[in-house]
Amino acid sequence: MRYLLALWICKVTTWLLRAMHRGATALPGKLALSVCPDILARLASQFTVYVVTGTNGKTTTGLLMSSILEQQGVRYISNKSGSNLERGIVACFAEGVKVSGRSKGATHAVIECDEAAFAKVAGKLNPAVVVVTNFFKDQLDRYGQVTATLNLVKTGAAKAVNATLVLNADDPLCASIGRDLPNNAIYYGMDNSNGNIVDSSHSENEAGYCLYCHSKMDYAYNTYGHLGSYACNQCGYSRPTPQVEMTEYSLTMESATFSYRVDQENYNCSINMSGLFNIYNAMGAIGMGLAIGAAPDHINHALSKSQPGFGRMETVHFGNKAIRTILVKNSMGLNQVINYLISVNQSMTLCFAVNDHISDGEDISWLWDVNLECLSSIKDNLSAIYTCGIRGADMAVRLKYAGLDTDVVYDNSLDGEGSIPIVVQRALEQMEEGGTLVVLPSYSAMLAVRSFLQEKIDMKEFWN
Ligand SMILES: [Zn+2]
Repeated sequence: MRYLLALWICKVTTWLLRAMHRGATALPGKLALSVCPDILARLASQFTVYVVTGTNGKTTTGLLMSSILEQQGVRYISNKSGSNLERGIVACFAEGVKVSGRSKGATHAVIECDEAAFAKVAGKLNPAVVVVTNFFKDQLDRYGQVTATLNLVKTGAAKAVNATLVLNADDPLCASIGRDLPNNAIYYGMDNSNGNIVDSSHSENEAGYCLYCHSKMDYAYNTYGHLGSYACNQCGYSRPTPQVEMTEYSLTMESATFSYRVDQENYNCSINMSGLFNIYNAMGAIGMGLAIGAAPDHINHALSKSQPGFGRMETVHFGNKAIRTILVKNSMGLNQVINYLISVNQSMTLCFAVNDHISDGEDISWLWDVNLECLSSIKDNLSAIYTCGIRGADMAVRLKYAGLDTDVVYDNSLDGEGSIPIVVQRALEQMEEGGTLVVLPSYSAMLAVRSFLQEKIDMKEFWN
């Protein structure tokens, strides 16, 4: 009875908030949990659950996992637009069931889960597959607490006793989950023995020391940051052989094509998003596809059809000008975006939109960890660099120290969050015909860019 009562409260508050035009909030899930603390386990027990967690790439990997399920004709629910904390996950499941508490028809769930929340919810979700993307310093734990985050995910994974783990073999932190737990594991990674992956952002190796014996690890090669082929000469911990391994790749501004190997067979795959980090996301989704028994050809077909989520390299066209928005949350994320911008080698206008709300991380000093200096190697390709948002001035200073000051446009008469739509509009107007504006927002700045673009699209549709 408590279960149904909690479910109804969740449904009614969601409905009321929507009627008041308040978007997804934490309230419905929070109320439901206070009435029935085990509501999540009861809801989730009706679904086959696939979870994705890790520092970077959760949303995109989840989206690609969903495409694979769609291709397989599976009916699923997912929290792709909602919160990835326990209350948001509760609200997602509550939406997927009727007032009787039975599923509306979906049999599966794709759940993106925050790493700390994962420790709490993994046992309740009893997932069939858990994909872990990677572990990097996030803005909130920039003082080297990345192993604390790893341990939270390990705690969760230990409760996911029936799950096949899909793990990034190239990340010694991520791969250690498979070593420490008895679960079945599928590893994915990138073969860079021919050296064709170049990390132009020269992102630093954050995990150069062995997790088990603290000796310095040897790397045969890196792909980026601490990802690569590693081995500890002291205790023998080394990169597990990946069952799914990328062998070659190429990038354009909008897409990535790559080959990968499974059981000595080679397959080709294209995705409608670019950047090496998105190939890693695709490899995680491929690992999940293999874990559920999908054929590689079917997986590749599904991935080639999927579109990026908002702010994850999504492109909007206005006339013959394009705006591409790429969310940046932490130093490694931004390093990877810079690597992508350098590798596509095409002319563009950049716009950094930086806020410092809680959702962005209030401490923005991580911007000084990013190798923005590398952008000077493509200076000739950059028509202009705009900065805006609450910390637009700080960003302009950071770019000045990176040697890019002559190209930076910062208008100090515009201040705060309100500057974001004005500056994006100005950048769009002032760039050349046929140009691309790449907007790099922090999380809350992305929401401001989203509503600006939405308004522009609505206006365009109105005039059409
Ligand atoms: Zn060791």
